[in-house]
Amino acid sequence: MSKIIDGKAVAAQVKERIKAEAAQLKEQGIEIGLAVVIVGDDPASKVYVRNKKRACEEVGFNSYEYALPEDTTEEQLLELVKKLNADDKVNGILVQLPLPKHLDDKVIINNILPEKDVDAFHPVNVGKIMIGNYSFLPCTPAGVMELIASTGTEIAGKECVVIGRSNIVGKPQAMLLLHKNGTVTICHSKTKNLKEVCRRADILVAAVGRAKMITSDYIKEGAVVIDVGMNRDENGKLCGDVDFDDCKDKASFITPVPGGVGPMTIAMLMQNTLTAAKVKHGIM
Ligand code: NDP
Repeated sequence: MSKIIDGKAVAAQVKERIKAEAAQLKEQGIEIGLAVVIVGDDPASKVYVRNKKRACEEVGFNSYEYALPEDTTEEQLLELVKKLNADDKVNGILVQLPLPKHLDDKVIINNILPEKDVDAFHPVNVGKIMIGNYSFLPCTPAGVMELIASTGTEIAGKECVVIGRSNIVGKPQAMLLLHKNGTVTICHSKTKNLKEVCRRADILVAAVGRAKMITSDYIKEGAVVIDVGMNRDENGKLCGDVDFDDCKDKASFITPVPGGVGPMTIAMLMQNTLTAAKVKHGIM
């Protein structure tokens, strides 16, 4: 029987740490602010934005929400980004993705000041992650690293397999594991013998987007299994990429969905916003 990694509990610890630091900064007259921009009415995006605002309240940050209509033009959105770049009260800017189809997220992200890009999606921040000299970590992969650390598992020298190569999860995840001296393999839809490759993993991170695709025959006995996936099963219930019930007896540690990686992503966003404020004020 594996130990279930409680993402909510680890996220709560991270947020407590951030709250204490934010309170200390407030005593020095430094307030921290996160601007969240949402365009259109996507219900999932609205939930994410609400959760981000709630997290700001929990840790004592100011949050500024900008809800723009679906038909917002690129010019209008860029104008807002420019205003937020120049706003001293705003330490972090987050533009909720996906944007409506007529807007190019790359153009928008490239216009956020790298020092306020708390999602770490700007090419400057992506490049810094690549060379291992970064202040912001991409939120989801950074959350995964915290969850692995919470198990006490040493990454150095371990076989780490990441399934998925997206720019927001798979690739940066692989890079963070590599920085910790893991031996890293990245898998994707063209990978041959996926099962065999996954079975080599001491640490397996699934970021595929396919409900319960990873069954126990993909898993080495005693592996640490981290499930980034957020999918709906055949009954419309939220589930991960990993078939939790099938894998839980084989893994040494495993994350549930919900309650695993999800809460960590928001906690790490708060961490990046705190970092942005500290860098701005020359504290780190
Ligand atoms: P993408 O769709 O951008 O990437 C999915 C990756 O999985 C691709 O690299 C794709 O390969 C690979 N893949 C797809 N099918 C297979 C297959 N059969 N075998 C092997 N690899 C496959 O997704 P994201 O990275 O954005 O997200 C992945 C999952 O994580 C989603 O469920 C998403 O909802 C969730 N997520 C959760 C977050 C959280 O906070 N918990 C945050 C972000 C995402 P290829 O490149 O060849 O197409």
